[in-house]
Amino acid sequence: MPTQRFTVLPSSEATAAPIRDDILANPGFGRYFTDHMAHVRWTLDAGWHGHEVHPYGPLTLDPAAAVLHYAQEIFEGIKAYRHDDGSVWAFRPEKNAERFRRSARRLALPELSDDDFVDSLKALLAQDHAWVPTPATAAEESSLYLRPFMIASETFLGVRPSHEVDYYVIASPAAAYFKGGIAPVSIWLSSHYKRAAAGGTGFAKCGGNYAASLAAQKEAEANDCSQVAFLDAAENKWIEELGGMNLFFVYRDGRLVTPQLTDTILEGVTRDSVLTLAREEGLTPEERPISLDEWREGAASGDITEVFACGTAAVITPVGELVTEDDTIRLDAGGDNEVAKRLRGHLLDLQYGRREDTHGWLTRL
Ligand code: PMP
Repeated sequence: MPTQRFTVLPSSEATAAPIRDDILANPGFGRYFTDHMAHVRWTLDAGWHGHEVHPYGPLTLDPAAAVLHYAQEIFEGIKAYRHDDGSVWAFRPEKNAERFRRSARRLALPELSDDDFVDSLKALLAQDHAWVPTPATAAEESSLYLRPFMIASETFLGVRPSHEVDYYVIASPAAAYFKGGIAPVSIWLSSHYKRAAAGGTGFAKCGGNYAASLAAQKEAEANDCSQVAFLDAAENKWIEELGGMNLFFVYRDGRLVTPQLTDTILEGVTRDSVLTLAREEGLTPEERPISLDEWREGAASGDITEVFACGTAAVITPVGELVTEDDTIRLDAGGDNEVAKRLRGHLLDLQYGRREDTHGWLTRL
């Protein structure tokens, strides 16, 4: 058993089952947390050690802890899905483990092994499996959201990589992102805020990227949009991604275009999966630059029939319109977002075990 390396200190104040069931009936997103958390510590001298699952609770950090000042921090987002037979599975966790190592390298944090990453999820779930919701209907899509993160915890105000680091996993039950179907969302095009520049941290999942996106997010909300689309920093021309999701464009002739990966785009696990499933669905995926002008012209001519965003949280979400400072680009041609719905159904069927896992994408937790 790989999880034997994690010492378990069970909570003596675990949530009573009726209270937990009330939470699971209406969990929202990111509000409630399970009874335990996983923890592994790293020091420059001893490396990774102290693998533990202990009761969920506040951290004790010195006010001079490096992460509070210089944001040396990375995180991941991954879901645990309950299948009809009660078993609990993660979707491609090794991809998240690999991305977590990439993020660590960029933020000058120590790399956690893929085994430790996946085992920490298993060790936490061994205690908190009752917190994985049981979807009452196929449409419900509830899950347990897992949030691994790593922080620079050394008490030191010098600007250099921390000599002490802590890795944790917390878990939070999550409802379906959308109640009552998948309504197309309105997206705001950020024209002066940039998410990432070449040589920066755009490809890494670090807290600073999200802090930097919030002013643009406020602008989006002021314009009745729920998400922000970012253009590249160099030419202000090429579509990159949303603040927390990758973008895909469906063409009338069956092409499915997504911006190719650079060091300014986060490589989504959902994005990678969609590229594979698209081929199986008879589409022709293309990873290449796509400009704002191509979006505008394709929407006007009807060549682009759908645009959708994808990520772990919202799976696949149709984009109804892109609002810019000058105009609003609507997608009227496709109408019913048939391709987005088909890919979404395919992906969810795999994640919830309603379809054979021919790719070996599921790991039992
Ligand atoms: N881009 C950004 C900036 C994100 O934060 C996320 C969410 N992790 C994604 C894309 C989608 O990634 P994934 O499919 O792995 O959730």
